[in-house]
Amino acid sequence: MSDGLPPSNLFYQTRLRRPQLARGAGVYLWDSAGKRYLDGSSGAMVSNIGHSNPAVLAAMRRQMELSTFGYRLHFENEPAEKLATRIAGRMPEGLDRVFFVSGGSEAVESCLKLARQYAIARGQAQRWKVISRFPSYHGSTLGALGVTGMSLMSAPFAPMLRESPKIPAPTCYLDRDALTLEQRGLRYARMLREEILAQGPETVLAFIMEPVGGASTGALVAPDSYYAEIRAICDEFGILLICDEVMSGAGRTGRYLASEHWNLRPDIVALSKGFGAGYAPLGAMVADGRIAEAVIDNGGFIHGHTYAGNPLACAAGLAVLEEIDRLDLITAAEQQGQALKARLEATMERFPFIGDVRGKGLLLAFELVAERATMEPLPVGLNAHLRLVDIAYDAGLIIYSRRTRGGRIGDHFLVCPPLIVSDDQIDEIMEKLTASLESFAREAGL
Ligand code: PLP
Repeated sequence: MSDGLPPSNLFYQTRLRRPQLARGAGVYLWDSAGKRYLDGSSGAMVSNIGHSNPAVLAAMRRQMELSTFGYRLHFENEPAEKLATRIAGRMPEGLDRVFFVSGGSEAVESCLKLARQYAIARGQAQRWKVISRFPSYHGSTLGALGVTGMSLMSAPFAPMLRESPKIPAPTCYLDRDALTLEQRGLRYARMLREEILAQGPETVLAFIMEPVGGASTGALVAPDSYYAEIRAICDEFGILLICDEVMSGAGRTGRYLASEHWNLRPDIVALSKGFGAGYAPLGAMVADGRIAEAVIDNGGFIHGHTYAGNPLACAAGLAVLEEIDRLDLITAAEQQGQALKARLEATMERFPFIGDVRGKGLLLAFELVAERATMEPLPVGLNAHLRLVDIAYDAGLIIYSRRTRGGRIGDHFLVCPPLIVSDDQIDEIMEKLTASLESFAREAGL
């Protein structure tokens, strides 16, 4: 199994064949030649409140005049304290201990390490295996990559990785059996039970999943039955449930955490992207107080990064969360998400090669197929995931794509504009996307 990430070289001083970014405002970005792009994917599902939000910029300027850095072991800092309190106030009951980091991979690493130290604190040092899903994406550092289900990214590092056991992501929409969706949801959830038994329950530490999938699956949502069953299985075996809400958190799906859609209570949560919203590198792990206290009482959490919780990033994060509330952007994500999803679904009539439209709130995706009835992927040689993105880019619309090669999910495209997107801007997204799909269909002979 492998995934089709385009080979890329993200070293600087290497040309990526993209223009220079000049500035951004709201849902738009401009390049140095003056061309305007509608940021239909919020970068990589990051810029939830849009670009150059004046209140966030003002808060950052104020903080910059005071201090930009104070080492955690030397000083407390007010923005970090306030941000931690604000985040904890929005989490499910009991998830009240916040640990700051600077991005999503670091947040995932923190979750894995805290879970491990909790097992040790409970006298269960034999528990170390973290089960995850394929496909999935949890980050590119070695620990997070070990639980990531994208072989193209992980295969070269195999000798350096502790690859986690994986169960299939709940791709129920692809199954052609006599079961209902809810029955399929249960079937996928019970694969976790089988895997725990196969691994030996006494060795399993945690299960990590994205409640609404991100780039690896294209906004995959499981049937309702999946979520409660997963929680019940984790409880049955005393296994921690880690929800990776790096992409789905901070309101993007129309709830503060995506897991709230199913009243799913994680034991530990990873957050990033929308919390810094592109204004500062920021991430967090939020843990059940009992887990954090047990680790603290057993000698402390052996983890930390120099830049974590710096006052500037936290001031930005605090201002982002204030803007999300002031502009009621979580409600907007739900409402505008419904409107955009309905429009995407409507395009399925016109383009038979759109096999599926899915997602929650403004974490939305569509998948291209050779044949909708069978969900057979498009031929790899068409490179649809790259071509459609390029055509849309030329038309001034940014969308985000992946292809899971060898897996069951084909070319999929995330359409995830900032949560401030207006009705007119949804019209603009749809006009540009429809024209791009038409050009792609002509070019690919579909
Ligand atoms: N987890 C999920 C669900 C993600 O989508 C990502 C990034 O796309 C990460 C973790 C890693 O985050 P970062 O790129 O900030 O390290």
